[in-house]
Amino acid sequence: MEAWDKIKKELVSMYKDTNDDPWITILNPVSFDNNALVLGVPDDFSLDWIKSHYHEDIVKLARSLLNDAMSVELVIDQREELEVNKQNLLPVEYAPTNNSKGLLKNYTFDNYVVGESNKFASAAAVAVSQNPGRAYNPLFIYGGVGLGKTHVINAIGNLINDDHTGLNIIYITTENFVNDLVNHLRDRKMDMFREVYRNCDVLLIDDIQFISNKERSQEEMFHTFNTLYEEKKQIVFTSDKLPKEIPNIEERLRSRFEMGLIADIQVPDIETKVAIIKKKAEDDHILIDDEIAFFLAYNTQSNIRELEGYLTRLSAYAILTKTKLNIHVAKEVLSGLIRKKDKWLTIDDIQKAVAMHFKLKVSDLLSAKRMKFIALPRQIAMFLSRTLTNASYPEIGLQFGNKDHSTVIHSVNKIAAMIQENQSIKDAVEKIKKGLG
Ligand code: ADP
Ligand code: MG
Repeated sequence: MEAWDKIKKELVSMYKDTNDDPWITILNPVSFDNNALVLGVPDDFSLDWIKSHYHEDIVKLARSLLNDAMSVELVIDQREELEVNKQNLLPVEYAPTNNSKGLLKNYTFDNYVVGESNKFASAAAVAVSQNPGRAYNPLFIYGGVGLGKTHVINAIGNLINDDHTGLNIIYITTENFVNDLVNHLRDRKMDMFREVYRNCDVLLIDDIQFISNKERSQEEMFHTFNTLYEEKKQIVFTSDKLPKEIPNIEERLRSRFEMGLIADIQVPDIETKVAIIKKKAEDDHILIDDEIAFFLAYNTQSNIRELEGYLTRLSAYAILTKTKLNIHVAKEVLSGLIRKKDKWLTIDDIQKAVAMHFKLKVSDLLSAKRMKFIALPRQIAMFLSRTLTNASYPEIGLQFGNKDHSTVIHSVNKIAAMIQENQSIKDAVEKIKKGLG
């Protein structure tokens, strides 16, 4: 659309020396008449962000370039893929020769399946890899256990390593960062420690939640962060908790984690799980038909690592016994691991149904929010998970954002009691249960 192209051109040049450029590229014109331009953005996160940061500039430009009475409206346009346009990003020049430390080479974007649950995190990760230090800094990737955080943070490192020469890339788990610090402290070699971490170009820190309670490491991380940040070096963290949920960390460090972009990885939906299974099967050269893929997808809870375990077992069986896999063989082979039920309900299904009933997001149920309108549905979802699947209390806790099993027991007992006393709770539970079949 010509009108939009004009405005966009101006915007891009306006923002080209900042980190904000990628935001402009996700805007897409939806409609235009003489006085109104409607722009689509991919999700409500971007909508809020663009509204508060760029809307004013866009309106001003529209009025000066088109006509004084122009209005600009932003809407969510879900058909648009959140994709950062490579051409529009700034070229980055670096000296040759690369140096990467600790990267896990097998985790790349090529073997990372993108679905609803991780498309935002993965788009952010790609943007960061294409334009380290300039797209989003720091990038804070947040998600439950086994959902692909380690994979994606290494994919960032590997892509940077492939596409940009001359960069010092460090991937390290927080545990190893802490150990490294302790060793250097002991040997009185802190200079060396600082030399390494404060002089890299890309610092990838996995599982930062483990820095909780480690005061000295927090201090060192804080100064490392500041040095790198000021020099526009890319920093990426992963965590299974949001910054505000990590206990016992210094406020100043927490605020650094929140400074850039926080992108979450959600529990994959069935389609994404199936896509992951198929991709892994293909990479491992095993034949898995749709029926088996869906069987596996429906019968894993949230964890992709668990899926991989099933696949490994299936492929070992097929190879060792020279048997062709089909759904019956798969069920037989996995019967000890997957519960045998004619109806395959998962905690995932239950969370979705409960969230839908109460008009919440599944992520609310997994969060630690205590408002009653979230806490009660969460307790109902835990109760249903206990009664409709054979998951143990700890497993349920794990899948509700890593809650302690005692919380689950308390919730289950509470709802069980409420059902007997409170008609509206009883109705809600019955209705959700019915919907689940
Ligand atoms: P986390 O660090 O979040 O606990 P990992 O990154 O270790 O999880 O992921 C667990 C396993 O699942 C890894 O083997 C990883 O390759 C795989 N995995 C996770 N997400 C995806 C995905 N979207 N596509 C392909 N494989 C995935
Ligand atoms: Mg991990």
